[in-house]
Amino acid sequence: MDFSPVLSVVVPMFNEEAAVPELVARLRPVLDGCGVGYEVLAVDDGSTDGTGAALLEEGRRWSQLRIVRLRRNSGHQAALTAGLRLARGEWVASIDADLQDPPESLPGMLRVALEGGVDVVYGVRSDRSADTLFKRRTADVYYRLMRRLVGTDVPAHAGDFRLLSREVVDVLRGLPERALVYRLLVPSLGFPSAEVRYVRERRVAGTTKYPLGRMIALAWESTTSFSAAPLRLATWLGLTSFLLCLLLMAFGTAAYATGAALPGWTSLFLAVLLLSGLQLLCLGLLGEYVGRIYAAVQNRPAFQVCFDSAEESHPARTTANTPSRKAFS
Ligand code: UDP
Ligand code: MG
Repeated sequence: MDFSPVLSVVVPMFNEEAAVPELVARLRPVLDGCGVGYEVLAVDDGSTDGTGAALLEEGRRWSQLRIVRLRRNSGHQAALTAGLRLARGEWVASIDADLQDPPESLPGMLRVALEGGVDVVYGVRSDRSADTLFKRRTADVYYRLMRRLVGTDVPAHAGDFRLLSREVVDVLRGLPERALVYRLLVPSLGFPSAEVRYVRERRVAGTTKYPLGRMIALAWESTTSFSAAPLRLATWLGLTSFLLCLLLMAFGTAAYATGAALPGWTSLFLAVLLLSGLQLLCLGLLGEYVGRIYAAVQNRPAFQVCFDSAEESHPARTTANTPSRKAFS
């Protein structure tokens, strides 16, 4: 494990069998042309198609291709965590496997980092016309919301295509959190950064691994890991409903005093409905954060490595801190 390349390129992939040959065909000449020692860390995130076999096949011809397999599908961010944890380079880049982020931008990013003396270089999508209208609209809303919640340090439309110095990687590795959203976490650390613009290309093969459900999950994860705003919302809702209750009580008392008391069924019914709805909502919001605390306290591993081509003598080694427990994402 004493091999330390200048650059590690982490590529999380889930069921990307069809994209592997093209990825290798475009990534390899770029990295070979960089003139620095490098490793490519392909993190197979529990693929159920032929991704693993395709990687092994490519690995036979490309010694710098290191293949890491996670025991089960643990999610894009967990696969990135595995990659960052295992990367040995002085600089660590992450790039999607579907070639939506052009590998040709990598040498430029490394140059900007070295010449500009910055620790982070974001790949920023200057043109997303290759994405569907739905993806562009939802991404717009996501980044606007995140800039409000986390601060304007978060570059808009910077996904997980970025270059990090060893110092940043070590800080990220030291974080105890399980669910990490790197596109927000990295800017929040405040390291000097620069941006490299690129045009988002079309997916080279296969279909998106981020259907609507996963996009919503990422947005919710991003919100709750950076902001207690939803909890505060619960407080405000509770306070408003309490004030409303006071008003209703005054109204009820006045109606009783003037002898105009109605049977009152409708107002009672509505009030009970409204208040129980609000209470449930607040309880749910509280539960979200209690759930996060619970997961943090359990401290289960976010992923388990079951194979690492760089350590073939120990093929069953895992990074689980409690190997007997089942990993969950
Ligand atoms: N990915 C992953 N695990 C998952 C889902 C996605 O490793 O559970 C990888 C995927 O193979 C790709 C990257 O994350 O390399 C981004 O996913 P995708 O391109 O499907 O997202 P989109 O570009 O559509 O937002
Ligand atoms: Mg993609």
